[in-house]
Amino acid sequence: MAQGHDSVQPMTEWKIHPRNIDYLFLTHAHIDHIGRLPELIANGFSGEIICSHATKALLVPLLKDALSFSDYSNEQKRQLLTAVQDLSWGFEYGQSFSLKKEIRFTLGRAGHILGSSFLYLQFPMEKNKVWSVVFSGDLGNYNTPLLPDPDAPPACDLLVLESTYGDRLHEDRTHRLDHLGKTLVKALADNGKVFIPAFALGRTQELLYELDRLFSDEKWSKKFPELQQQGRGKAPVPVFVDSPLALQITEIYNELSAFWDEEAKASLADNDHPFDFRDLYSVKRFKDHQQILDFPGSAIVIAGSGMCTGGRIVNHLLTGLDKKENDVLFVGYQAKGTPGRDILKYADSHGYVRLKQQKITIRAKVHKLTGYSAHADQQGLLAWVAAMPAKPGAIRLVHGEKRAQDVLTGKLSAQGYSVIQ
Ligand SMILES: [Zn+2]
Repeated sequence: MAQGHDSVQPMTEWKIHPRNIDYLFLTHAHIDHIGRLPELIANGFSGEIICSHATKALLVPLLKDALSFSDYSNEQKRQLLTAVQDLSWGFEYGQSFSLKKEIRFTLGRAGHILGSSFLYLQFPMEKNKVWSVVFSGDLGNYNTPLLPDPDAPPACDLLVLESTYGDRLHEDRTHRLDHLGKTLVKALADNGKVFIPAFALGRTQELLYELDRLFSDEKWSKKFPELQQQGRGKAPVPVFVDSPLALQITEIYNELSAFWDEEAKASLADNDHPFDFRDLYSVKRFKDHQQILDFPGSAIVIAGSGMCTGGRIVNHLLTGLDKKENDVLFVGYQAKGTPGRDILKYADSHGYVRLKQQKITIRAKVHKLTGYSAHADQQGLLAWVAAMPAKPGAIRLVHGEKRAQDVLTGKLSAQGYSVIQ
């Protein structure tokens, strides 16, 4: 499902009818990778849905949220979600399982969000030969909070590789906590609020992990003592997570601690929950959301949607975007045509953005923090491919704009890889 667009047209032509599909593999639970699953089921798919344990746990809550914006009747929604629950199966990483016709599959860690996987498929051929394919799914970065690093992929005949940032290098991630701390101290100095539009899955939990360190880790709270004194009555600044979906997913992340990285597990074992701290507040009920809209004094508010296309962040921006003491902090990609993109574009000239049919002047300061991408950059993609024990027979690039694919094709070809366009 494409993001940043208002409506998604239903499929009119199926190359293979959903009824005839035996297996559906989900690499991870981001909505652009699972969003059309209900449509597939509504059109007759009744095969097996294969994914990791964590993806399985995230699947239904995310689809339930997505379906709430759809035209299906309540009864249809209920039936579709039950079908997703019944047809989907969670599997372990690194183990090979067999399917019909002796086809085998293995999931590897992709380091993108919790539960994200790449897929290794082996097809038996004549004369005991095997033809194999690795499908990268969305690949993440090394040293992502909470997540184990991506696994090295096995050798294969065909590699289907994502290429979102095939033409770009990310800024150094090691300084991003420092940037976040400095930006927050500056933003809160004039007693305003900081609004952080964030995606419910992945980005919110990553941010909470970093805020936890800024607020409760000894080293960081010494470095930024202001954060402990900028709230009302010189108390620590309250952090509100104002998104029922993000809160629900954070709870699921909690239950899936077996899939966290070693650092987060160690911190939990040490009785220091890695993304829960004293001044963190959950805003579940709509009534409470309305109350914090005019909360007096400094606060940090994390709310969806990530590109300000809907959700509670819109109400915060309607009340706070035209006040110069406030700040907006973007930590994610803002697609063309979204209010988030307009806010970034028109912030310097104090232009306006249209939210719920209202023109709101942008007087708040607007910042964009880089280093938060959940996707590997060009260097990361090349390093992951190079980690294969042998060069793949061929590489096919997907999930990237043409320019990104062209640049990455050039890099891979120069290193002796065969890229099919
Ligand atoms: Zn993704």
